[in-house]
Amino acid sequence: DLTLVWFRDDLRVSDHAALTAARADGRVIAVWIRETRDGQGLGPRPLGGASRWWAHESLAVLHQELSDLGIPLLFAAGEAAAIVPRLANSLGVGAVRWSRRYAPASRALDSQIKSVLRERGFAVHSHIGSLLVEPWTVAPQGGDHYKVFTPFWKAVSGREVGDVLPTPEPQSPIDPSLVESTRDCAAVTDLDGLGLLDGTGTGSGHFAAVRGPRWWQDTIACHWLPGTRAAADQLDDLAVGIDGYSSTRDVPSDANSTSRLSPRLRFGELSPRQLLHAAQTTRSVTSDDRAAWVRQLYWREFSWHLTYHYPDIDYTPIRSEFRNFPYEDDDEALAHWRSGATGYPLVDAGMAQLWETGWMHNRVRMVTASFLTKNLLQHWWCGEQWFWDTLVDADEANNPVSWQWVAGSGADAAPYFRVFNPERQRERFDPDGTYVDGWLPYPPAAAPAPIVDLADSRQAALSAYDRMKNFS
Ligand code: FAD
Repeated sequence: DLTLVWFRDDLRVSDHAALTAARADGRVIAVWIRETRDGQGLGPRPLGGASRWWAHESLAVLHQELSDLGIPLLFAAGEAAAIVPRLANSLGVGAVRWSRRYAPASRALDSQIKSVLRERGFAVHSHIGSLLVEPWTVAPQGGDHYKVFTPFWKAVSGREVGDVLPTPEPQSPIDPSLVESTRDCAAVTDLDGLGLLDGTGTGSGHFAAVRGPRWWQDTIACHWLPGTRAAADQLDDLAVGIDGYSSTRDVPSDANSTSRLSPRLRFGELSPRQLLHAAQTTRSVTSDDRAAWVRQLYWREFSWHLTYHYPDIDYTPIRSEFRNFPYEDDDEALAHWRSGATGYPLVDAGMAQLWETGWMHNRVRMVTASFLTKNLLQHWWCGEQWFWDTLVDADEANNPVSWQWVAGSGADAAPYFRVFNPERQRERFDPDGTYVDGWLPYPPAAAPAPIVDLADSRQAALSAYDRMKNFS
C-alpha cells in the first residue's frame, strides 16, 4: 500500500492529482531530486541562481506541509534515472507516481524511467499537474500543433478543466527506520545537502563594481516569500492582481498592475487550475479584467505547447531562417546590458529590478529584450541565459519562447521592423518616471552616456534582417 510520489515542478499539496491518487491507494513517501542531466542530455534544464534560491525555500515549506500530513519528503541529488528505481526498491513501494512534465528532454527521461520501473515490477502512473491543456490534446486541422496564439486560445479556452482537488487527509506514521534505510542510498541527503544555495553569490559587472559582490538571495529574499503558504495568501487576494488588469497591466510602477504569480506557477506552488477557478469565482473584478488575465494564463499554456513541439527551443530558432541572422558577439555591450549601464533609463531600471528582486515587469522585459537583440544585435541566447539565471520565475517554456518572440524568430513573433524604442516606451508607460526613479541603478545626474544611438542601431538591425533574408 506504499507509493513513492516524485515531486518536481509541483511543490504543493492541494490540487495535486498524483498525491491524491497515491493517498487513495494507501500511504505515501515523497521525494524531490536535484537532477543532473544524464550523458545524453536528458532531464530538466539545470536551475539558475535565483531559481535555486526559490526552490530551496519552497522545498522547506513543502517539507513541513507534507510532514504535517505524516508524509516524509526525501531529498536526493544526481541522475534521476538511477535514483528513482533505487529508492522505489529500497522503500519497497508498490507504485511510483508523478505529475507530467512537457519539455522534450524531460519527457524522454521520464519515459525511460517509467520503462525501467515497470520492468522491475513497479506500477507507474503519471498525472496532469502543471497545465490546463496538455500539448498533444489540441491540434489545428491538418497539422499537429498551433503556431499562432489566437487560434490556439480559441480552441482551448472554453475547455472543462475539472475540479480543484483538496489537500489529502493526514496518514498514519511511516516507520522511521524505513526512511532511515534510504540513507544508504548515496544520493539521499537533507535539504541543505542539495547545495541549492551554493555558488549563487557572484556579483558581476556594473552592480558588483558599484555596490560590491553580494549574494543574490540577500536582496531577492526581501521581496518574496516562497512556499505554498504565502502562495495561498496570494490566491486569496487574487482580486488585487486582476482588478484593473485590462487597463493597468502595462504600468510597471504599479506593484499591483499584475498578479506576480509567475514563480508560484513556475514551481507549482499553485496549479493553473486553482488560478483559473479562483479567477472565475472572484466576484469583485470586472469581466474584462478577468478575461484579460485568464488569457495570459493561456499564453503560458501556449509556450508549453510550442516547447513540447520544438525540442531545443532554448537555442534553436523556431523560424529556421533565423539560424543565419548575423548577430554580433560583443561582450562589452552584453556586460553593459546585464549590469544596467546602457544609458537608457527604462532598460537600466528594468535590469536593476531584475537583479534586485529576481523579477521584472512584462512590459520592461519586452523592452530590455528588444534592446539587447535589436539595438545591440546580441544573440537572444545571451539574454535568455541571463534571465534564466536571474529570474525567480525562469521557466523552460516562457523564457525561451518570449525571447524568441521579441527577437523575431518565434512562431508568432511580431514583425521584425517593430523595434521597441526604449525612450518612447518610457514616456508612454512610465510618464511620471515613478518606475525609473525607483529602480535606476545610478543617480540621474550620473547617468551613463547611451551606448548606442537608437535610430542608427534600429537601422543596423533592419539591415541585418535584410542580410539574413538574402542569405536564406
Ligand atoms: P500576470 O500578468 O499577472 O499574468 C498571470 C500569469 O500568466 C503569469 O504568472 C504567467 O504565468 C502568465 N503570463 C503572463 N504574461 C505572459 C506572457 N507574455 N507569456 C507567457 N505567460 C504569461 N514568464 C515566466 O513565467 N517565466 C519566464 O522565464 C519568462 N521570461 C520572459 C522573458 C521575456 C523576454 C519576456 C518578454 C517575457 C517573459 N515571461 C516569462 C512572460 C511574462 O513577462 C511573465 O510571465 C510575467 O511578467 C509574470 O508576471 P505576473 O505573474 O505578474 O503576470
